[in-house]
Amino acid sequence: MADTPIIIDNAKCRGCKKCITACPFDALYMEGKLAVLKPEECRACNACVKACPFFAISSAPEAEAKAAASLADFKGIWVFAEQHHGKVQEVAYELLSTGRRLAKDRGCDLAAVVLGHNIADSAAHLIAAGADKVYLVDQPGLAEYEANVYTDALNQLVAKYKPEVVLAGATAVGRAFFAKVAVRARTGLTADCTALSIDPEKHLLHQTRPAFGGNIMATIMTPNHRPQMATVRPKVFKMATPDCKRKGATLLEALTLVAASTKIVKSERNTSSVNIAEAEIIVAGGRGLKKAENLEQLKKLADLLGGVVGVSRACVDAGWISAAHQVGQTGKTVCPKIYLACGISGAIQHLEGMRSSDTIIAINSDPNAPIFGVADLGIVGDLFEILPMLIEAIGSKRKN
Ligand SMILES: Cc1cc2nc3c(=O)[nH]c(=O)nc-3n(C[C@H](O)[C@H](O)[C@H](O)COP(=O)(O)OP(=O)(O)OC[C@H]3O[C@@H](n4cnc5c(N)ncnc54)[C@H](O)[C@@H]3O)c2cc1C
Repeated sequence: MADTPIIIDNAKCRGCKKCITACPFDALYMEGKLAVLKPEECRACNACVKACPFFAISSAPEAEAKAAASLADFKGIWVFAEQHHGKVQEVAYELLSTGRRLAKDRGCDLAAVVLGHNIADSAAHLIAAGADKVYLVDQPGLAEYEANVYTDALNQLVAKYKPEVVLAGATAVGRAFFAKVAVRARTGLTADCTALSIDPEKHLLHQTRPAFGGNIMATIMTPNHRPQMATVRPKVFKMATPDCKRKGATLLEALTLVAASTKIVKSERNTSSVNIAEAEIIVAGGRGLKKAENLEQLKKLADLLGGVVGVSRACVDAGWISAAHQVGQTGKTVCPKIYLACGISGAIQHLEGMRSSDTIIAINSDPNAPIFGVADLGIVGDLFEILPMLIEAIGSKRKN
């Protein structure tokens, strides 16, 4: 067995330091003009092997075999099923529907993990939504989300069961603690994915998300570490119809919980701000509205239709309305039955947040506006003429 996971051939090393820059674990240093390995820091990721232009670094065959074998220890796809006061969040069901497809492609089990208290009822719902197994940790110390406690609990389960893939919703909770779980598991995490698939040959999770301000879609992989972890925003994937006849196993786990670093005195739901992510009808406006006062027309139409007002970032940046209404990459992802876009051009960052809506209707004076590329119904015209007509027509229908 080689003593180190990688071998440096001093005769070939030219002291260019490219390996040092490439190493994500700070496991190499210079001694005179030669690169030297700190074996205890090396994670055998092979970044230095790939970076060396002089082929001076190679991975020890034994280390390669060991790394491959240890990756093979990780099996199964997990979905972290976030719950609040016993109610599993919809995003968990959306992830289970995608998780089912991934598990089929990978030929493995799909499991849901629930942390909380008095959550036993959730198992049946999660199995109906596609889970083969549900790991339930039902303890008073998990009743309210606390970052340290949740992080440690999930890390304990990951260390014990070694899942190959772990997914979570990119919610406030998911965003806050999932990154900590990934750091402690010494693996990678891709946040806010918009597509997930499994490479049938290498079994790698392809994690696709917008990058460079939404100008490109990047597909990210985690080739050397496990589990492969990703978060997905609510409403990006569609929920499957539950199958109440599905059978699955529920495994009750008892964990020794770490002490919480914060004390929750009281928790209150913020009902004052609008939740556009859950709306079935969204009447959305953009810079084409020209000024804040014109949002009133959208509000009128939204009220008539029983919907809510959404906006492009241009309206939020102009200070016309709060960010709670913003749809898009840096706003909310929505999936309503009807999305009516008025005076919105359809920039990629906006489309990222609404393109999976059931029916998209666009009103825009520019026939070449990109929003028409995703619209099911497009009206080329002046929104200041069309909106009053719609309000009038729908208003009089409501009266009759
Ligand atoms: C990193 C990053 C993140 C971003 N995140 C988001 C995000 O989350 N959400 C988001 O929306 N944007 C986001 N943006 C901004 C995005 O790139 C666009 O600038 C923004 O979406 C444009 O808003 P808009 O369509 O309202 O305005 P514009 O692009 O100016 O479009 C206005 C439209 O109104 C039409 N119009 C004008 N007058 C009328 C009229 N009388 N009747 C009918 N149509 C009319 C015009 O033809 C035009 O198509 C982000 C940008 C970056 C760089």
